Amino acid sequence: MSILKVARMGHPVLRTRARELERAELKDAAVQALIDDMIDTMHEYHGVGLAAPQIHSGLRIFVAAIAPEDEEPLPPDAAPLVFINPVITPVVSELVEDWEGCLSIPDIRGRVPRAREIRLRGLNRDGERLDMMLRDFPARVAQHETDHLDGILFFDRMRTFESLTFPDEYSRYHAKD
Ligand SMILES: [Zn+2]
Repeated sequence: MSILKVARMGHPVLRTRARELERAELKDAAVQALIDDMIDTMHEYHGVGLAAPQIHSGLRIFVAAIAPEDEEPLPPDAAPLVFINPVITPVVSELVEDWEGCLSIPDIRGRVPRAREIRLRGLNRDGERLDMMLRDFPARVAQHETDHLDGILFFDRMRTFESLTFPDEYSRYHAKD
């Protein structure tokens, strides 16, 4: 397993639509190794989620340290969620705004509107169907990561850039929001 280089904003791979995987491709040792490396890379950089384009791969895969019922990120020793070919359907039209950051946009946070509740479908790394309802924090993470697979960054979703903030200023002025 290895730590991979994370693509930063400006790299074209972050603006390119990733492709679906065939279920048979999940039997490929290289794909499984890629998923393990994505998990290691996410943990190394203290991310809550990581999508394949962020490590220069054009496949529809994301990993996320989330659990459907949890408002907090999973600890690093818990197995993260691995989603292949994720498809999101908003359950209600209600949007909620909250803070996001991105390993591909280091040291900047901003407030992003997202659907409060979604249905998330796809495959796990063994090719089995996943189908879950997510609300609030895990729903936000899943939307952020799935956006990466369509070449969308969180800046694109912001209503205004007024909230853009560096980490020190975030801690000082906004952490309790
Ligand atoms: Zn991101």
